[in-house]
Amino acid sequence: MQPELYLDANATEPLRPEARAAVLAALDMPGNPSSVHAAGRAARRVLEGTRERIAATFGGSPADLVLTAGGTEANALAVRGLAAGRRVLVGATEHPAVLAAAPGAEVLPVHSDGTLDLGALERALAGPPALVCLMAANNETGVLHPLAEAAALCRKAGALLHVDAVQAAGRVPVASDQADSLALSGHKLGGPKGAGALLLRPGLSLSPLVTGGGQERGRRGGTEPLPAIAGMAAAAEAARPEAAARLAALRDAIEAACAAQGAIVAGAGAPRLPNTTSLVLPGVPAETQVIALDLAGVRVSAGAACSSGKVGRSHVLAAMGLGEDAACAIRVSLPWNAPEDAADRFVAAWSAMRERLARRPALA
Ligand code: PLP
Repeated sequence: MQPELYLDANATEPLRPEARAAVLAALDMPGNPSSVHAAGRAARRVLEGTRERIAATFGGSPADLVLTAGGTEANALAVRGLAAGRRVLVGATEHPAVLAAAPGAEVLPVHSDGTLDLGALERALAGPPALVCLMAANNETGVLHPLAEAAALCRKAGALLHVDAVQAAGRVPVASDQADSLALSGHKLGGPKGAGALLLRPGLSLSPLVTGGGQERGRRGGTEPLPAIAGMAAAAEAARPEAAARLAALRDAIEAACAAQGAIVAGAGAPRLPNTTSLVLPGVPAETQVIALDLAGVRVSAGAACSSGKVGRSHVLAAMGLGEDAACAIRVSLPWNAPEDAADRFVAAWSAMRERLARRPALA
C-alpha cells in the first residue's frame, strides 16, 4: 500500500521536530508561571523567553504579545476587545473565527480573484470610526490581500486594522508594523495545537475576553499553556518563508497538470501563499472528491474544515463569484515536509479520480 500523502497543512501543519522537543521539555516543568517559588519562577523564565522569541520572529515587542490558546481565540480577543465604539468592517472571505466574533459587521467585497476591493474599503471608511478585520492570507485559496494599501487607507481614516495572519505567518513575510493587531496560531506554524498569540501595536489596550487571575497583564486570564506556547515559539523560529520556493514549485506542477485536465484554479491570478491551491472540478461535489482521494491515501480538504465534518458551499469561493462551482473545490495545502514526489503522486491520484467520476453517468 502507498504511504499516506498528507496535503492538508492549512488545517494543521505536521509537528516540527524543534517544536516537539520544546513541548517535551516544558511538559517536565512542574511550576505554574504565576507561582512565586523557584519552580514557578523557572516556568516564568521559560514563558517569558518564548514570548520574546515569538515577538522577535514577527517583529513586535514582548510586552505587546498576548498569549492565547489558539488562532480563534486571538482573533476573537482582537475583534471583540477592540470594537468598543467602532463599526466593524470584515472582508467577505474572512475565516469563521473572525466572522463569528463580529455579528452584524459590514462586509467588504472581494474581486473575482479573491483580493480585497480597495475602492469599497475606502468608501466604507468614510463614516464613524471603524475596526477593519482582514486576513493576510486566505485559508482556502491562499490569496493574499493588498494589506499595505489597506493599512494606508485605514491610517488615513483613523480606523484600527486587525490582521488575521494565521495562514500567512511562517509562509510569507508578515508586515506586522502595518497592523494594530495581528493574530497567530501555533499549529499552523508546525507547533502543537492549543497555542496562539495576539501581537498588539505598542500602547494599544483592549478589553479581555477571558477574565480571571490577571495573567497576560490582565488581557487574558488563565494559566498560560506553557508546553504548547514553547512549541509554538520553536516552530515559529523554524518556519522560514525562504523555504517557499520548493513548495511553490510543487504547487505549480499540481496546478499545471490538473488545469490541463479541466480543473479551475480559484484565485489563480492573485498573489498567493506558495503552498496552497484551490482546485475546482466543475460538477463534482467537493465531498465526493475528498472521499475518493482519501481512499487513495491522499488527505486534502473541501475548502475549510468544519467542526461537523460536513462539506458545504464555500463562502470564500461564493464571494469570488464562483456560483455552483463553489461546492466543487478541494483545497490542496502542502506541508513544510512535503515529499519531493508530492506533486506526481497527487496528480496521479487526482487524474484517476477524475476519470472514474467522469465515467459515472450522473457526474459526467
Ligand atoms: N484564521 C484562519 C485564517 C484560519 O485558517 C484558522 C484555522 O483554520 C483560524 C483563524 C483559527 O485558528 P485555530 O485553529 O488556531 O483556532
